[in-house]
Amino acid sequence: MFAKMKHTLKKQMINYSLKGDNVHCFCCGHNFITFLPGGVKQKRPNAFCPACGSLERHRLVWRYLNTKTNLFEKSTKLLHVAPEPLFYKILSHHKNIEYVPCAKFGQGYEDKYPKGTQNIDITAIDLEDNTFDAILCSHVLEHIPDDQRAMQELYRVLKPNGWAILQVPLDATRDTTYEDFSITDPTEREKAFGQHDHVRVYGNDYEKRLINAGFQVKRDKFAYQFSSAELFKYGLVPEDVFFCTK
Ligand SMILES: [Zn+2]
Repeated sequence: MFAKMKHTLKKQMINYSLKGDNVHCFCCGHNFITFLPGGVKQKRPNAFCPACGSLERHRLVWRYLNTKTNLFEKSTKLLHVAPEPLFYKILSHHKNIEYVPCAKFGQGYEDKYPKGTQNIDITAIDLEDNTFDAILCSHVLEHIPDDQRAMQELYRVLKPNGWAILQVPLDATRDTTYEDFSITDPTEREKAFGQHDHVRVYGNDYEKRLINAGFQVKRDKFAYQFSSAELFKYGLVPEDVFFCTK
């Protein structure tokens, strides 16, 4: 209890000391002098929102959902894979959304997921075909050895005319995805794939993998509409949005 109060107080003090108008968070609507450094390995400048905890990729996807999809306008049954808590807070309470947050348990991340998250392995989804109007799955597939199977399963449970946003970290300088399943040691994985629990580095053939699973793919250069001043203001790093339909 005391630790929680101390944490909240510290957060409020950070928020207060960073109060300003240089940057704006799409996720929580707060303004600051700057976003804080953020990232797992190297700390990127202007990345982490001190109010809601969003990073660049969260703000980009959130802006995309709000301006390029009908998620908040029509009745939508949404599968949210490995739900980010900052999205969960809004999506789980939205009146138009029948919300199904899910994650595979047993990976050591259970505590990280919000209450009500269902234990679903996306390589073997125990649900009928054509169940969801929309799927949100961001930065998950790079953790899954059989990503092709996961993509096929997501395709299967998506309704015809449904859409899915399937984001991965992608190295656009690579034509071909790099994976080597003989590398299993976390330290070695970090060296090879950039993070201890990643099993590959996607290249530009990521789109082809999605197509192989059945999806129609729009590789949306959405982030490139922003000027460099806007990229700073909104704390964004250009990343293509993979908008997939069935
Ligand atoms: Zn925020």
